[in-house]
Amino acid sequence: MEELRGKTLAELDAIVQRLGFPGYRAKQVFHWLYKHGVRHIDEMSNVPMGLHQALAAHYRLGGVEIAETQTAHDGTRKILFRLDDGCCIEGVLMTEKGRTTLCASSQVGCPLACSFCLTGMRGFQRNLRTAEIVDQVIIVQRELLAGQRPHNLVFMGMGEPLLNLEMVIPALRLLTSPQAVGISTRRVTVSTVGIVPGIHALGDARMGVNLAVSLSATTDEVRTRLIPINAQYPIAALMAACREFPLTRRRRITFEYVLLAGVNDSTDDARRLVKLVHGIPCKINLIPYNPCPSIQYTAPAADVIEEFRSILVAKHFTVAVRYSKGREIQAACGQLAGHCCGQRSG
Ligand code: SAH
Repeated sequence: MEELRGKTLAELDAIVQRLGFPGYRAKQVFHWLYKHGVRHIDEMSNVPMGLHQALAAHYRLGGVEIAETQTAHDGTRKILFRLDDGCCIEGVLMTEKGRTTLCASSQVGCPLACSFCLTGMRGFQRNLRTAEIVDQVIIVQRELLAGQRPHNLVFMGMGEPLLNLEMVIPALRLLTSPQAVGISTRRVTVSTVGIVPGIHALGDARMGVNLAVSLSATTDEVRTRLIPINAQYPIAALMAACREFPLTRRRRITFEYVLLAGVNDSTDDARRLVKLVHGIPCKINLIPYNPCPSIQYTAPAADVIEEFRSILVAKHFTVAVRYSKGREIQAACGQLAGHCCGQRSG
């Protein structure tokens, strides 16, 4: 059965009319799906019983369920979402200075196999559908945030959003449309490992959302070792795509740089990083490596991180060192495993 969640207003309009009801009912259904986040078709209380029945006979709502949540001492919550085929994905809800950030996923697992990331080590199961992408936000808003939208939404959970643009772009439209979920585009960030054609496609779609790029190395030799897809989209091509990415006034690209002791944390790396991003309106997030089971890296010592940072700061970059939240519950960057399809491990 096809799912209703993920449909646009125009698509719902066609569905409602095909079922023999006037087009204005589509607006009501749309509202119930995206503003109220209904979990059952019969919750749509201003919709006639006949339409409930017709919808229920041909469609299901679609989306995700919250299977489990875990809360760390710093208040960070890890959420296990269950999908209708039994697969699970993880998300993270963080609060800082009263502002909530939801870290959502775009794929079940990830095909990229970056050497420092647990999600990548666990392999790839499948792409998420639009319904599953938007519903992570809708269900969290309804069940964990007392109806409040998250202040920020970042696609930094499991998967590579730019390898699933066919489902991610319609989801972004619904998430940012004021008639649907209505999160401002300036509060939505799509993070990529650097899929060059995907960066162009996202730019061409003029979604107006923010772009983050997980750079994490300054030479192709090291980057390919850490991030195998770099062999296909090397640093020069990636930086060229970033330079072409349409940025409206006062918007900046975020470069994420996972710091691994002795691998990519030298002062030469910091200087090369300065050259690579030269001229791109950007901010740089340094993420000291978060330990993951069976991955051998370590985070640099505090003074090494500080020296790296100070080289960037001296060149007037906006730099933040992101000490990840929720580490003790494995909710930090790169730690999401989403024990999937019955393969409980770790
Ligand atoms: N595939 C996309 C979206 C995932 S975002 C991307 O790579 O951008 C997840 C972020 O966490 C990325 O910036 C990634 O580089 C970072 N990360 C992965 N493993 C990590 C680890 N063990 N410690 C710290 N950061 C990590």
